[in-house]
Amino acid sequence: MGRHFLQIPGPTNVPDRVLRAIAQPTIDHRGPAFARLASELLERLKTVFKTAGPVVVYPSSGTGAWEAALVNTLSPGDRVVAFETGHFSSLWCELATRLGLVVDVVPGDWRHGADPDALAGRLTPDVAAVMVVHNETSTGVRSRVPEIRAALDRAGHPALLLVDTISSLGSMDHRHDEWGVDVTVGCSQKGLMLPPGMGFNAVSAKALAHRGRLPRSYWDWEPIIAANRQGFFPYTPPTNLLYGLREALIMLEEEGLDAVFARHDRHAEATRRAVHGWGLEVLCADEREHSSSLTAVLMPDGHDADAVRRLILERYDMSLGTGLGRLAGKVFRIGHLGHFNDLMLAGTLSGVEMGLSAAGVPIKEGGARAALAYLEGAR
Ligand SMILES: *Cc1c(COP(=O)(O)O)cnc(C)c1O
Repeated sequence: MGRHFLQIPGPTNVPDRVLRAIAQPTIDHRGPAFARLASELLERLKTVFKTAGPVVVYPSSGTGAWEAALVNTLSPGDRVVAFETGHFSSLWCELATRLGLVVDVVPGDWRHGADPDALAGRLTPDVAAVMVVHNETSTGVRSRVPEIRAALDRAGHPALLLVDTISSLGSMDHRHDEWGVDVTVGCSQKGLMLPPGMGFNAVSAKALAHRGRLPRSYWDWEPIIAANRQGFFPYTPPTNLLYGLREALIMLEEEGLDAVFARHDRHAEATRRAVHGWGLEVLCADEREHSSSLTAVLMPDGHDADAVRRLILERYDMSLGTGLGRLAGKVFRIGHLGHFNDLMLAGTLSGVEMGLSAAGVPIKEGGARAALAYLEGAR
């Protein structure tokens, strides 16, 4: 009985308002009512990316939007520089390699973000693009995108800047235009509080002009942007998810993006205080790079994170994020993004504290209480 706690870092809790919006009847996607919906929505969507340019919407997961960013801009054999920040950055690199790109990976320890100082040495004249994951969802580490931009500018290098904001969009500040990003990749099921099923590319004028020769058809921006001008899509769009997207964007506007980001910052800080209160360690190793949408918690040696997650699911009906790739068993991840408030965090941290204790993990008293004290004070 009671609500399931879905505290993985995506898919996130979908607000009832959004679910009700999705439950409207599907309409003719070539009719005037659809054109009004799409035209209004495509404008509104720009505010969350902080761009004046087009945002392309795909019926896809985030992975599809990753592929779209590459096949629209790059040519076979192009060199790209990518930062190994964790599991998701590695998957994006694999995808790029399979598409025939030459990927120069800046290695990382999965506890830090992309290192702006490491970029200059990699920027040979043949580099066509730089790929960065803004919020590495496997580690809870944020990369400093403006500093990556500044490093490109200092080198006077024309490479495109491609940024994955899949788990930061609508939760942590991202400024497509101001930060000089060429393609921002997003998707529906994380900070935007929607079910899975939509991928996004926000596209700069420079990226639109820089058409690569990789084969593309379904992912091609051009026919989509052309049809969007009249409020249509070249193929059947995910009409009901678009209803949901409109409602989610209205909710973000009502709260105000700055307030949304401040809420995520508070919940992230409170979560870190709980982790430290338990005597455990947060995976992110740099104070400047903490994620505000999730926290990855390191387990003490000899304790399996997945055993704790299993116990918490069975006893308290709460789902937490598993350790991905080389972090399997070593960390669990607490998602605190999207449709989320103080009492949901209080419940989440209580469940984690009880679960750690019941699993026999040696923790100190008072972790959840430290988070509550912070939430009381910081409003
Ligand atoms: C979730 C996620 C992805 C993958 O998205 P899918 O919808 O599962 O394809 C990619 N990058 C980041 C940073 C993510 O959090």
